[in-house]
Amino acid sequence: MSDGPTYGFDTLQIHAGARPDPATGARQTPIYQSTAYVFRDADHAAALFNLQEVGYIYSRLTNPTVAVLQERLATLEGGVGAVCCSSGHAAQIMALFPLMGPGKNVVASTRLYGGTVTQFSQTIKRFGWSAKFVDFDDLDALRDAIDDDTRAVFCESVANPGGYVTDVRAVADVADAAGLPLIVDNTSATPYLCQPISQGATLVVHSTTKYLTGNGTVTGGCIVDSGKFDWSASDKFPSLSAPEPAYHGLKFHETFGNLAFTFHGIAIGLRDLGMTMNPQAAHYTLMGIETLSLRMQRHVENAVKVATWLEDDPRVDYVTYAGLPSSPYADRAKRCYPKGTGGLFTVALKGGYDACVKLVDSLEIFSHVANLGDTRSLVIHSASTTHRQLTPEQQQAAGAGPNVVRISIGIEDADDLIRDLDQALAKACS
Ligand SMILES: *Cc1c(COP(=O)(O)O)cnc(C)c1O
Repeated sequence: MSDGPTYGFDTLQIHAGARPDPATGARQTPIYQSTAYVFRDADHAAALFNLQEVGYIYSRLTNPTVAVLQERLATLEGGVGAVCCSSGHAAQIMALFPLMGPGKNVVASTRLYGGTVTQFSQTIKRFGWSAKFVDFDDLDALRDAIDDDTRAVFCESVANPGGYVTDVRAVADVADAAGLPLIVDNTSATPYLCQPISQGATLVVHSTTKYLTGNGTVTGGCIVDSGKFDWSASDKFPSLSAPEPAYHGLKFHETFGNLAFTFHGIAIGLRDLGMTMNPQAAHYTLMGIETLSLRMQRHVENAVKVATWLEDDPRVDYVTYAGLPSSPYADRAKRCYPKGTGGLFTVALKGGYDACVKLVDSLEIFSHVANLGDTRSLVIHSASTTHRQLTPEQQQAAGAGPNVVRISIGIEDADDLIRDLDQALAKACS
């Protein structure tokens, strides 16, 4: 099929990027389990290596199964191209890599996945990069944090795990005014609930490990490029605008136009960093995406039911879920996320740390795991696990204090989930 804006989301999530296999007619996208691809002749090989012709060389760079997933995600997010890689964390490094350099910084929201806070506050320092964390509700603070060395602005749309939703349009306007790309981690919302590019984002990153695959089978990541940023408008992005010594002085932006970031991600990023997605992983994720909209509808429906029940329970202190009318983000959620705010929220227990740990140990349907976005309901005590490396202040800012449990609501029967929580709360709070 020809992909186009004329098709609806439910159609595109099944068909975008895929066509019957030209060799066999196979209707489902085959897993091209091949490392290398035969060149037609020496001229063909040279043209591929010079980036004069697009084709397959070696699966560290490109693979036909992964390419279908890239095209599908680019289509669902409304971008021009996408690069898949080995995990969500790899995607974040791959997104920053062409933009940053020693001494440069990214201005990031305080409300992020715990692993991202650690990656940004500790690990990227090894590259000479740094991050400044700001409350993205305070747009003046965001403006003030941006300096001459800032090369990107980074946030999550629906933030993990604190029930926070970002006004992507407002943040994009600030980044735009400063001439900077906005990178949005859209993992928890998925393109079904939010399309950050339509609200001004430059790049979208995903952990495809979560809702996109949907059933906890493989890790993967993706960067989708809007194709809208002018990399040559300033001298801030030489990797994309200036001659590239690793490609005989080729200028990516001048040569590839709105596909510059995508080509750079493959030709330099995957070639030299090697954080490649394997074709098996792409296959599982393609399977998952076929039912994305149906699952997200149920995740949202169940999360609203369970969060509403928990909020009214006397053993519960509070629930942070932007889908509840009591949330301080309820208005923003309605305006920016009309289909819902996903399946993820936190619940604080009056019994504090001890009750949280007992709750996690007493649940039967919910699995105690460091994951989210599974068909199964999952639970974790963030402060003692995923957010363990953070300072108490960082934990609070991320909505992951010691009295709080994070819940990822699955697509089971909501009544069964409520009954399970009820019996576990009885044990935890006795
Ligand atoms: C899981 C997650 C990541 C990291 O992804 P991995 O696939 O585990 O590397 C990044 N951001 C968010 C919001 C996540 O939930």
